[in-house]
Amino acid sequence: MNQDSLSSLFDLTVVPVLVPLPADRPYSYVVPQGMNVESGSIVRVPLGPRQVAGIVWDGDGGRVDPKKLRAIEQVFDCPPISEPLRRFVDKVAAYTLSPPGMVARMLLRAPAAFDPEPMIDGLVLSGRHPDRMTEARRRVLELASDGLAWTRSGLARAAGTSLTVIDGLKAQGVFDAVEIAPRPIVAAPDPDYGASSLVGEQGQAAEHLVKRVRDGGFSTTLLDGVTGSGKTEVYFEAIAEAVRAGRQVLVLVPEIALTAAFLERFHDRFGAKPAEWHSDLAPKTRERVWRQVAEGRVKVVAGARSALFLPFRDLGLVVVDEEHDPAYKQEDRVFYNARDMAVLRGHISGFPVVLASATPSVESRVNAVQGRYEREVLSGRFAEAALPDIRAIDMRRHPPARGGFLSPMLIQAARRAVERGEQALFFLNRRGYAPLTLCRVCGHRFQCPSCSSWLVEHRFRGQLMCHHCGHAEPRPEACPSCGTLDHLVPCGPGVERIAEEIVSHFPDARTIVLSSDMLGGVKRLRLELDAIANGDADIVIGTQLVAKGHNFPNMTLVGVIDADLGLANGDPRAAERTFQLLSQVTGRAGRTGKKSVGLLQTYQPDHPVMRALVSGDAQAFYEREVGERERGRLPPFGRLAGIIVSAVTRTEAENHARGLRKSAPQAPEIMVLGPAEAPLALIAGRYRFRLLVHGERRADIQGFVREMLTRGPKERGSVRVNVDIDPQSFL
Ligand code: ADP
Ligand code: ZN
Repeated sequence: MNQDSLSSLFDLTVVPVLVPLPADRPYSYVVPQGMNVESGSIVRVPLGPRQVAGIVWDGDGGRVDPKKLRAIEQVFDCPPISEPLRRFVDKVAAYTLSPPGMVARMLLRAPAAFDPEPMIDGLVLSGRHPDRMTEARRRVLELASDGLAWTRSGLARAAGTSLTVIDGLKAQGVFDAVEIAPRPIVAAPDPDYGASSLVGEQGQAAEHLVKRVRDGGFSTTLLDGVTGSGKTEVYFEAIAEAVRAGRQVLVLVPEIALTAAFLERFHDRFGAKPAEWHSDLAPKTRERVWRQVAEGRVKVVAGARSALFLPFRDLGLVVVDEEHDPAYKQEDRVFYNARDMAVLRGHISGFPVVLASATPSVESRVNAVQGRYEREVLSGRFAEAALPDIRAIDMRRHPPARGGFLSPMLIQAARRAVERGEQALFFLNRRGYAPLTLCRVCGHRFQCPSCSSWLVEHRFRGQLMCHHCGHAEPRPEACPSCGTLDHLVPCGPGVERIAEEIVSHFPDARTIVLSSDMLGGVKRLRLELDAIANGDADIVIGTQLVAKGHNFPNMTLVGVIDADLGLANGDPRAAERTFQLLSQVTGRAGRTGKKSVGLLQTYQPDHPVMRALVSGDAQAFYEREVGERERGRLPPFGRLAGIIVSAVTRTEAENHARGLRKSAPQAPEIMVLGPAEAPLALIAGRYRFRLLVHGERRADIQGFVREMLTRGPKERGSVRVNVDIDPQSFL
């Protein structure tokens, strides 16, 4: 008797359930008599000794020995995961070569949200009168006479009485108990609340986007406009149109946790804030957002990359702001680029995607030029605001004083800004005090015990820290190698050290240092950013945190301490990245019409990146970059995949990587480079080797890598293999 007839004999309904594990396919489960499930239902299933939440997937339940089948325990009272979202999970898994279960895991990140939010206890007037009237009672009854349901505490607060007054009335039957639906996490956005009148190119760009939303269907538009040109205003119109149509909208923003100003602006435009989604949300808030997104009650989410995996019921538009930003790339478990996956999401569901940037990625620009994306350009800043005048300071000719890092020219410019009552920003993309500490006597260098990296001194914290694994140790007085006291020297600057130098030049200025490792976390950072925007600081010293999206009206000088910093790391995108980051950070200056300057401290003033920044000729820079990519067959003219093999011993990692290399199939349009020891050869005690797969543009690089992994040695012992399709990092 075969299995089919067996299951029909017992009349079993078997369904596939995708569980949040590195499983390649859904597992089969029996649907118990009387239970109703459909594709997309979120269910609780037994798995070994555990119980996990999974998603009922599509297709039949597969062929499993009925004796081994286990039953679904529970169907959660939760809207099912929609069909397009299920296809998205499949496609993301196929694209990134990740187990679908691990992609589903990203969707199921808020387990407590699978159950409905509890109803709130409320009170309505019953019509019965109280035994006697007091002033407090009168106020309460007057308020409650609106006939609506009130909460006990809400009513007390509104009437300015104590809870005992309410309870007393309740005890006399003046109120009936009712249940109130849980409050929405954000109010509904009003698409016509506070529209700006758009001018010139803004109007055309907005019209185009609104039409795309109105017509529906998939499209990708690159909204390419300099900082301050009004890109946000423009895509707000597209959002308004989607909201009018009752659809949901996702705006991806890098560092959303820090851009409170964005939420305020959204509020000014729509009369309500969007729901936020990022890793710093309180767990309870996360659950409520997840739930209300699933129910379709939340219309607009502004979130970090993981918001792409929220269970939208009817997503109708995704905007990816600062689409070039490296923060969109996740390099953990499932390696994906949220920008690219957003386009995929739009393609599957058939809605428009907007990619906004002042410095688009080369990939997106090429896609626009070649017609795969549409493009709308905003070429000037809004109103009287002029872009800052960018100049390079040749550090060979204007070197800093001994032991310092600031050229006299930069100090002088800052002095002028501060004297005018304006703000200056010093930008250095390096946290801490000094990136390296060494002993002047024996040359000992402080290295992380589990990574191939130097320990960074953090003087505020009094610690030496590893930026790769988090290892921290107190800074000793004596060299651990030769024992000499007080001969340890910091080498090179981090923001804390620059701050020290600035304070020595500007003892009376109000300075703020901003970097992501500041004590006090996101809350503190938000406050500091507000303080800067309100003019409560004269000088700001910051890492890339300050580069992103903030509007500091009084900032007229941006000084880049080390413009060459990002150029030297052997990354094929080094020039592009440096151009983007420095454009963005200098773009913080001059947002309100005052004359402003960006000064770049560099030892390579003739480098194409510096020239492009100084001349403002982005076009020429992009053409050059595009040309180089084309010659090198690099993305988007070719395809790359990184394979990272790590293990607790170097030999294991290397042997495994070699084994994979040997099992590479033959394909004329694809070649494999390596294995080579990774530039970061050791992270958190794991040795790392890299392979790089390089293919022609149309090559099936995923198919190739999949075959390599299937044929090659299996992960054993401590060996782990990570696949990074379209890698951004080569470390
Ligand atoms: P971007 O997103 O391109 O950096 P923004 O949308 O932030 O540009 O616009 C820069 C500044 O100019 C903001 O303060 C914004 O409110 C203002 N602005 C831009 N366009 C308009 C407009 N049409 N009407 C009123 N204010 C505008
Ligand atoms: Zn480390």
